[in-house]
Amino acid sequence: MAIPSELITATCSHCERDIPTSNIDLHYAHCSRNLQKCAICGDMIPKKHADEHYNEIHAPVDCSLCSERIERDLLSLHEGERCLRRIITCEYCEFPLPAVDLINHQEVCGNRTEYCDLCRKYVRLRERVNHDIQFHSSTADTAEPPRNIPPPGREGREGANRRPVGASPRKSFLLTIAITGIAVMLGFFFLRKPEDKQ
Ligand SMILES: [Zn+2]
Ligand SMILES: [Zn+2]
Ligand SMILES: [Zn+2]
Ligand SMILES: [Zn+2]
Ligand SMILES: [Zn+2]
Repeated sequence: MAIPSELITATCSHCERDIPTSNIDLHYAHCSRNLQKCAICGDMIPKKHADEHYNEIHAPVDCSLCSERIERDLLSLHEGERCLRRIITCEYCEFPLPAVDLINHQEVCGNRTEYCDLCRKYVRLRERVNHDIQFHSSTADTAEPPRNIPPPGREGREGANRRPVGASPRKSFLLTIAITGIAVMLGFFFLRKPEDKQ
């Protein structure tokens, strides 16, 4: 069985594509006459459109915000992260303003204070995030129900100190005991209805 002739290929020395051998001469004549390799992206482009190709794909462009001339590859990076005229919102007041003005604005804006209800004092906006992490995040953590404790109902009669230690670290074990203790006390508290006392 003969291999179909279109499966036998040769590489065109001009465009470096694999071309069926039966077509290679015709292809090469056309290819070398009409196409050229773009020195920037390596695409084969029609010779007569080489200038358009360069202008549309590769020529530097002017940033519409700051008018600076930017390599096209870098334009989206420039517009997104580098252009001094790009609009950013202040992290404190969320007012939109050009990047070039942001540092001075945030310097002033971050110095404003805000009242912390939990501490009952004023905190600078620039310190607010750290303030919350430092003083208020642990409150939020312990408010979460602990995950590795069985429901208090079963635990109630046996007492907290008879729990198996297991493999958990000592610190979380102690915490577990404390929380279970509270749960047990709460359990008694709610179970003891007024009529039980009599
Ligand atoms: Zn070719
Ligand atoms: Zn190109
Ligand atoms: Zn710009
Ligand atoms: Zn601001
Ligand atoms: Zn506070």
